[in-house]
Amino acid sequence: MKDLYIDGIWTEGHGGGRTEVRNPYDASLLQTVALAGPEDVDAAVKAARRAFRTGPWRATSSTERAAILGRIADLLARDREDLARIESLDTGKTLTEGGIDVDDVISVFRYYAASIAHDSGRVVDTANPSTISRIVHEPVGVCALIAPWNYPLLQMCWKLAPALAAGNTMVLKPSEVTPLSTIRLVAIAEEAGVPAGVVNLLLGPGNVGAAMVEHPGVDLVSFTGGLATGEKIMAAAAHGVRRVALELGGKNPNVVFDDADFDTALDFALSAAFVHSGQVCSAGARLILQDGIHDRFVDELAARADRIRLGNGLDPETETGPLVSEQHRAKVENHIAQAIAAGATLRSGGHRPTEPELQKGFFLRPTVFSDCTRDMAVVREEVFGPIVTVERFTTEAEAIELANDTEYGLAGAVWTTDAGRAQRVAGALRHGTVWINDYHPYLPQAEWGGFGKSGIGRELGPSGLDEYREAKHIYQNIDPSPQRWFKG
Ligand code: NAD
Repeated sequence: MKDLYIDGIWTEGHGGGRTEVRNPYDASLLQTVALAGPEDVDAAVKAARRAFRTGPWRATSSTERAAILGRIADLLARDREDLARIESLDTGKTLTEGGIDVDDVISVFRYYAASIAHDSGRVVDTANPSTISRIVHEPVGVCALIAPWNYPLLQMCWKLAPALAAGNTMVLKPSEVTPLSTIRLVAIAEEAGVPAGVVNLLLGPGNVGAAMVEHPGVDLVSFTGGLATGEKIMAAAAHGVRRVALELGGKNPNVVFDDADFDTALDFALSAAFVHSGQVCSAGARLILQDGIHDRFVDELAARADRIRLGNGLDPETETGPLVSEQHRAKVENHIAQAIAAGATLRSGGHRPTEPELQKGFFLRPTVFSDCTRDMAVVREEVFGPIVTVERFTTEAEAIELANDTEYGLAGAVWTTDAGRAQRVAGALRHGTVWINDYHPYLPQAEWGGFGKSGIGRELGPSGLDEYREAKHIYQNIDPSPQRWFKG
């Protein structure tokens, strides 16, 4: 099978073998995919460079580019059920979640199509009638777009849509664990009429991504993934002063005050922590509860966590799926052992499920730890699994202090019926997104990204487009005459 896409041609690549892609529900083989070798990385970057310099994409009007983005959105809508199924098989998430991801990316393509459709830059007032000054936006150049395994289609589209809208050319690399929806996405871009060389696709593990980042033909790297990889990418991109946009991890506080609507806050605390088995960068993994509700909240949270139905993502009865791989489950189990050793109280889960049909997959029961303190590794480090830790507080100041005591700063939530307190706490939190009396919504129109070690730059919204554009100032003197600065 030809799974790499370079300069408008599907190819087998030179990686010397194929990678197995497995279903995390039962470890069964879904398919094998081609592996890129160093010569494929070079060919893909050169094709993107050629298409940028001499190809038609950069010269297209924003109206034409908007039309192609709109066509991609239409084709994604046409293939919605298929894509949701692929995503469920590849990641283990439920079909419903897969469908939500596809709906989200359709609206992201439509949003950026609309953003650029009438984008003619900005006229600047110079206060001098014989001059004309304006700001125009131009593409950055060749972009390397590298995505993780938890939201394979969604994370790639949050990059692809604005990068294409801005007129760049690019090389895509999905995670080696979950490449299938991105292969389909690139076929959709081709069908929508994206010219050869504009979108190129490489498959393979981290060393393929590293070779892309190190390639001198790349102008910008946009990466979503782990902190350690982000640091390596930033160091590599320093050579040649290439731009980076980094969407890294999170350790997200979910703060509930005594006066919150108890049942709603409880319900959302559960989904914040356990949707997609907690493999969500913005998961509400750090529950911070006020004294008055603490005990009852923990009791009911643990009871409801025990009732979550695990299973095959394709089964409509399933409420959440497995972890993505055996190795990842082992990492999460290690966190559980460390938390117990550090003195956290296990209130539910902490082990693999016992149902016979779940034994082949990489399942872990939703896990609730109470009596957690901020010095514990399980509270400080991103676990990226079905674990929620509970800390307690008395005063508003204490809640803010705890919620901000993290190296990350991706997202957080505050639950209260006191409108003033809601605004005070939201204003004080050092996180890129703060939800009040809600958890998890994100919008194509609203910036997404983190403070601190959660990353650099923003995706979505107007800033998500600006990541992929250079602002150029064009200034014209319409009545030039000698200036006589120097008299001689
Ligand atoms: P990862 O860092 O291991 O891998 C991400 C991607 O980078 C993969 O495609 C991988 O092959 C590639 N890669 C690995 N080493 C590389 C290197 N040296 N150079 C270039 N590319 C390299 O992350 P993961 O395990 O796939 O994903 C989980 C992480 O992603 C979590 O930390 C999570 O918080 C983060 N994440 C963040 C967001 C966000 O919006 N902030 C969203 C989703 C996931």
